[in-house]
Amino acid sequence: MSLASVGTNCSASALPSDVLTTGIYGMKSRLRKAATPYIAVSFALFFFLAECLAQNVRAHDSVEGMRTFLAGMPKAELHLHLEGTLSAETIVEITNRNGIDYFTTAAEVEQSLADRPPGLMGFLEHHFKSQNVMQTRQDFYDATYNLIEKLHENNVIYADLFFDPQAHTSRGIPFDEMFKGIDDGRRDARAKFGVTVNLIMCINRERSVASAFEMLDQAHAVRDKIIGLGMDSGPEYGNPPVKFRDVYARAREEGYFLTGHHDVDVRDSVKHIWQSLDIIGMDRIDHGLNASDDPKLVAELARRGMCLTGSPVKRASDPEPQDIDRIRALDDAGVCVSLNSDDPAEFETGYLTNMLVLFQQASEYTKSDMTRLMFNAFDALWLLQDEKDEYVDVLKEYAVNNDIDWNEVTR
Ligand SMILES: [Zn+2]
Repeated sequence: MSLASVGTNCSASALPSDVLTTGIYGMKSRLRKAATPYIAVSFALFFFLAECLAQNVRAHDSVEGMRTFLAGMPKAELHLHLEGTLSAETIVEITNRNGIDYFTTAAEVEQSLADRPPGLMGFLEHHFKSQNVMQTRQDFYDATYNLIEKLHENNVIYADLFFDPQAHTSRGIPFDEMFKGIDDGRRDARAKFGVTVNLIMCINRERSVASAFEMLDQAHAVRDKIIGLGMDSGPEYGNPPVKFRDVYARAREEGYFLTGHHDVDVRDSVKHIWQSLDIIGMDRIDHGLNASDDPKLVAELARRGMCLTGSPVKRASDPEPQDIDRIRALDDAGVCVSLNSDDPAEFETGYLTNMLVLFQQASEYTKSDMTRLMFNAFDALWLLQDEKDEYVDVLKEYAVNNDIDWNEVTR
């Protein structure tokens, strides 16, 4: 009720007869008495509405403030597939250039993404079709250069980039053509945008051991340009890490760092993570969030300081980024988990800034928490300690300039 309505109710005809008989002084007194509760309610209502407005402004400021903070944060990406970064526009440009008879419009690419069945194999259905548009050195160059431009827009200052040679050589594309395109794109984009990108060559786990060895042979001449050996694609069940034990052993001898995918909620995921730790001797674990199901594994990961490259992606059908509870459980237990965009062109989470914003909104992690997850990525880089420290210092300076207690970040 408003003050105006109090006044309306106080017309002479509405006044009780005793007010009329007690004179103007009595009427004023009665009116004051009658209006007092209304005035009090109105003031309370006014302050309530003002507080609501202030809360909304503060909430809006904090959402915008967090978004600005996450956008400006210097970032590292440790789990990013070249083949999953082709935008609809790039796919159409390459298909038209190469005269391929699918994906002639961006709308067709979007429809193919929307039509994917759930699960890893449904995801791979579109992923394979999309990656197959790349055929020439120029295609690989464009894909790499365009990706690094996007990374720069997201304030990513370092990235380890997965690429899948077997997916291309099996289509008749020479390894050297593919690699030259990627490497030249990386070199030119670094000169332009200042982003350091190292390459991780991945085994397609559904292919044979012989094929993986052949890939290592093909890469021999450019060994010094590839930092690590990974493993991806699928299905994972039936193609465990131990299948490639000998390939990994040779890669280790040749000086590669080792990592591999352990997709979430696939059968025997925990068993596969143990294999990768104890038999393969991996240096990082990609995904691996099912580790949270096994307290012994959680303790072992924390003891070893082993980093899991999480990727809480979100499809249009997901209410929020996936696996937040698992990431929180591992983070709370002191396990190094980083956040990564995985296949940014193929998920609604997109590139890293947007993913961090969506993850923070759903998890309600603080700025310190978000900085810790980013620190984990820099801390897990396969670089000399001095080089790593330089990257961490960039993040630390950003955090301190944003009034974040660094001790909370590195708790
Ligand atoms: Zn991945």
